[in-house]
Amino acid sequence: MGLIVQKFGGTSVSDDQRIFNVAKIVTKAYSQGNDVVVVVSAQGSTTDDLIAKARGINMHASKREMDVLLSSGEQISVSLLAIAIESMKFPVVSLLGWQAGFHTCLTYGSAKIEKVDSHRIKKELDKKNIVIVAGFQGINECSDITTMGRGGSDTSAVAIAAAMNADACRIYTDVEGVYTADPKIVKNAKKLNIIDYDEMLELSTLGAQVLNNRSVEMAKKYNVEVEVLSSMEDVPGTVVKEMKNVEKRAISGVAADNNIARITVTNIPDKPGFAFKLFSKLSANNIMVDVILQSHGKNNLNDISFTVTNDCLGDAVNILKKYTGNWENSEILYDENVSKVSIVGTGMETQVGIASKMFEALYEAQINIQMISTSEIKVSVLIDSSDTNLALNSIHDKFFR
Ligand code: ADP
Ligand code: ASP
Ligand code: MG
Repeated sequence: MGLIVQKFGGTSVSDDQRIFNVAKIVTKAYSQGNDVVVVVSAQGSTTDDLIAKARGINMHASKREMDVLLSSGEQISVSLLAIAIESMKFPVVSLLGWQAGFHTCLTYGSAKIEKVDSHRIKKELDKKNIVIVAGFQGINECSDITTMGRGGSDTSAVAIAAAMNADACRIYTDVEGVYTADPKIVKNAKKLNIIDYDEMLELSTLGAQVLNNRSVEMAKKYNVEVEVLSSMEDVPGTVVKEMKNVEKRAISGVAADNNIARITVTNIPDKPGFAFKLFSKLSANNIMVDVILQSHGKNNLNDISFTVTNDCLGDAVNILKKYTGNWENSEILYDENVSKVSIVGTGMETQVGIASKMFEALYEAQINIQMISTSEIKVSVLIDSSDTNLALNSIHDKFFR
């Protein structure tokens, strides 16, 4: 008996039957004598549908208004789940982010949680209510609704678990846990029983959306043990926690990120300071740059290629065009049809031949590598996005079969 935080993603609450399925999991934990706080995401594709709706009206809607719109998805699902639990004669209350005490920074669209003031949740638990909390949303110091970025409900759940020192934090989703690759794309993917925070953080940052990367960051910071498990099958999932004194895995998984674009600036003068000036223009506009490649050209001119997220592409190209406008022969080229495929493993740095094995898998599948980047615990390649699934399967099978 204790305090249990449960989180259910969009697929898990996508229709009436699934809402009742979730209500059963929730009321079972409550009937066993636990205090239960439940975080819920918007149903199915609601968030995507709302974004499409806004774009149909205005492609440049302000982030503030987008947050007012997108937070409505979670408002629907918390109330529906509470209504289902009411019908089963259990005491229940639903709370929106601001009611549950989620105070965030000012940034609309990707707000960071600054504080969870859990007194209202505690009050409801003292009244023996099951508490259903809207994930993904909070309130900032202007008393405006903010959202935490895609997949943000995972972070809401971990934040509550940390703030209330919960005994368990269970993230229920539509797969049975964290796998060595996305099990919907790689049929030989294997479920991991346990994964270290650092490995999970790297996997989720590199595209494994099963857990939002900020939620893993927060779990690590506050040492919250998170279990990822299925809302449909009652089987053990994957535990995400600090793994001490265990032999590090050379490779823990393979991930892909399609939400990126490649930009190339051609014919940059080969003199000190030009790369600095180019990238400082981007960072001044809050544009994050990832994989960078400079190629040495002729006539003391270089090309520099790098990646940005798709949503920053338009802004990045406009800024660069303005800046490079008076350079002779310099062009800005870009390609949205790229994806970054990565292998991750905290034990990689002590093993030889990991990168070459990955490149061999790509060669055997006849996939061309556009760019490469490495760190102690990952190797990433940029490829044509049409090759993503083939690359994931080929690389995965090279390491895990
Ligand atoms: P939810 O709506 O429950 O938050 P998400 O769609 O955000 O669910 O995340 C779950 C999905 O993550 C799975 O359906 C799966 O396709 C995908 N996924 C990607 N990489 C992995 C991985 N390594 N292990 C498990 N699932 C993964
Ligand atoms: N509904 C939000 C999204 O689709 C938050 C979440 O699912 O975690 O990104
Ligand atoms: Mg998610």
